[in-house]
Amino acid sequence: MRWDEFSEWGKRISEWTQHYHQTVGQHPVRARTEPGEVLNALPAKAPEQGEPIEGIFRDFERVVMPGITHWQHPRFFAYFNSNASAPSVLAEFLASAIAPQCMLWQTSPAATEMETRMMDWLRQALDLPEGFAGVIQDSASSATLAAVLTMREKALNWQGNRQGLFGQTPLRVYCSSEVHTSVDRAIWVAGIGQDNLVRVPIKGDWRGMDPAALEAAIRADLDAGLHPAGVILCVGGTGTGATDPVDECLEVAQKYGLYTHVDAAWAGSAMICPEYRHYWPGVDQADSIVFNPHKWLGVQFDCCAHFLKNPDDLVQTLAISPEYLKTHGQDGIINYSEWSVPLGRRFRALKLWFVIRAYGLEGLRARLRNHVNWSRDLHDRLAAEPDFRIVTPPMWSLWTFRYEPADAAGLDDLNLRLVNAINDDGRIYLTQTRVDGDMVIRFQAGQFETTEDDVRMAFDVITQIARTLPTPPQEDR
Ligand SMILES: *Cc1c(COP(=O)(O)O)cnc(C)c1O
Repeated sequence: MRWDEFSEWGKRISEWTQHYHQTVGQHPVRARTEPGEVLNALPAKAPEQGEPIEGIFRDFERVVMPGITHWQHPRFFAYFNSNASAPSVLAEFLASAIAPQCMLWQTSPAATEMETRMMDWLRQALDLPEGFAGVIQDSASSATLAAVLTMREKALNWQGNRQGLFGQTPLRVYCSSEVHTSVDRAIWVAGIGQDNLVRVPIKGDWRGMDPAALEAAIRADLDAGLHPAGVILCVGGTGTGATDPVDECLEVAQKYGLYTHVDAAWAGSAMICPEYRHYWPGVDQADSIVFNPHKWLGVQFDCCAHFLKNPDDLVQTLAISPEYLKTHGQDGIINYSEWSVPLGRRFRALKLWFVIRAYGLEGLRARLRNHVNWSRDLHDRLAAEPDFRIVTPPMWSLWTFRYEPADAAGLDDLNLRLVNAINDDGRIYLTQTRVDGDMVIRFQAGQFETTEDDVRMAFDVITQIARTLPTPPQEDR
């Protein structure tokens, strides 16, 4: 393909994009493809000769689109949303057009300096104090890994990278049972080992870590001659929105000099609204905080905001400066590749700039508030139905429920069948999780184009399908 054909295709694809987003609500949310269907539709061998874009695009519509689960669907209530708002898609188009590698200041000064400015806009939007510095990571998993490596190096007096962990007193990291699996992976990859990730019991409606139990765990480890290194807190956990008592847990961590990381991957976006900040009191005492604008802030994947009270700790952990990467004679510049595990970095700040300017913080807040309020209305309606039980209360726009008709047995199986039947129906998309061993169904709202009617439709779909589902009576068990 030659560049002089580009603008025609660019126009066609941008028209296609607008049409797709305007009509995506007419499709079943979840793909209806059988395993292997797409694989088998793709030729086993790469073509030897080039082909015109026309045919490639036709196959994209024919082969690819039927196998897509529509994450931009207004009734995508599963997992957490991964919004691609219109301005962020435009910004990504531009970023991919210029395609700079933004590892050093000099490899694109505008990208570095915009990243600094955008992260400070976000810092202020979250009302974090001055002094927190930000970096854009590819994912919350990467930010958590960077934080765990930092807690490891700090605890080892910066000797871990050099000496490895062999022969060291085992390092201990503390979290609740509700944290995301990215925490486990970070612990594996950092060489700390799953056995040294201490699960502190939870308590209360927010399903947060018990601070007294945290302190008891740290003391027990110290008595046993182990080496406490850090605490990972959860604000808005993936299953049920579990949220630790941030101020009390940070106080315990500080008392023992431990490095702290707060994973607010989903809920952090909501903190642009002052009324939700009571969920993380005292968060300004944390060393590291992560949230994903690519979830609930309308910024297309990937874009992860990572704030650090003292970025020097992170840079001391991750920076490597071989001669060819040194930038000589540049004072006061930031090379963000020293703040992250990957070296190469995309120009992600551009889409933050487009999105924040296009909506304004007020426009973004209005969307988040709608999602929370509509989700709570749905919660109230379902709570009033005698055959449904609310299992965990709304945390922002997320809550869980269970279908428990009188005299029915095998409720785990029934609820799993219910969520599958709902997703096969296609009007809405939900996912399940376990709460204290029970299979429950999650609801969360957060799609940028979702309307109050879309959320209301979820009530009809859930109740209609539940009540037509065959339920085995008790004695059939
Ligand atoms: C989504 C999520 C993550 C993982 O985010 P990635 O950016 O996909 O790595 C981590 N923690 C929580 C609480 C999440 O909801």
